[in-house]
Amino acid sequence: MQGRIIKGIGGLYFVDTYEGILECKPKGIFRKSGIKPLVGDNVTAERLADGSGLISEVLDRKSVLIRPEVANATLAVLVFAVNAPKPNLNLADRFLINMEMAGVPAILVFNKSDLASEEEIENIKNGFSGSGYEIRFISAKMRSGTDDLKERLKGEITVLAGPSGVGKSTIVNFLTGADRMETGSLSEKIMRGKNTTRHSELLGIDEDSYIFDTPGFTSFDLFGIEAGELGLFYPEIKECLGKCRFTGCSHINEPDCAVKEKLRSGGMSKNRYDNYVMLYNEIKSRRKY
Ligand code: GDP
Ligand code: ZN
Repeated sequence: MQGRIIKGIGGLYFVDTYEGILECKPKGIFRKSGIKPLVGDNVTAERLADGSGLISEVLDRKSVLIRPEVANATLAVLVFAVNAPKPNLNLADRFLINMEMAGVPAILVFNKSDLASEEEIENIKNGFSGSGYEIRFISAKMRSGTDDLKERLKGEITVLAGPSGVGKSTIVNFLTGADRMETGSLSEKIMRGKNTTRHSELLGIDEDSYIFDTPGFTSFDLFGIEAGELGLFYPEIKECLGKCRFTGCSHINEPDCAVKEKLRSGGMSKNRYDNYVMLYNEIKSRRKY
């Protein structure tokens, strides 16, 4: 039968099938071929005589993320708080770059809008101006902007990610209805068994919308990116491709640079540009060995 992996713990996978949730081990072939089943994977599984399950095939993936490690996400929602804790916009860029690399569309959600002044909200918006990323301000606590967010996630398999303390659990509980769940229900048993922050888990929002609840993170590496291709993962820099005087322009010190011109004319935010330069130099120095 076919199903979807909704949780994986220590080599054991929980596969949601039309016959209910089957606890599966992967077939030995996966280890040999280097394929690791991931939460979010659509799989073929069989029930063995002892009632346990075996995953025999991982079906084609729409997307794969390495961090958080999930398959088939169609939308990434990066959650920060407007305040408490203050948002780390460099971390946001690192996350967005990884989503660009993976080909998963990303939006930004700033929670705790009840704790922010108009000015703070404007500053955050300005920090991403010209990037094209959709930005939402919500208060999970006051239930402001939350219904709109839920509507936005309709039909998507969303990966919700962000640092600890920004309100991810509060948002996930609202979206999945866990905050008004009946005691003893199957979903509640699953929620309770949940290891709150160490594993990714796929939860249902409604019949065609799902959300990956993922562990919080405090850092984000830029694996596998060369400094020279970093600009490809900034939509507003990518747009300038071929417009600089020098091919292979790093957009840092070269004259007649379309990106620096864009920055001067306000088409790119100083925050995003400064992060680009910082990350460019970080990658350069890492490669020097
Ligand atoms: P997580 O670590 O990202 O899962 O964050 P939690 O959902 O556990 O929330 C962290 C803290 O922020 C908790 O004390 C929440 O009550 C609080 N919190 C969540 N959303 C909001 C909000 O919109 N406004 C305010 N003021 N506090 C919030
Ligand atoms: Zn340039």
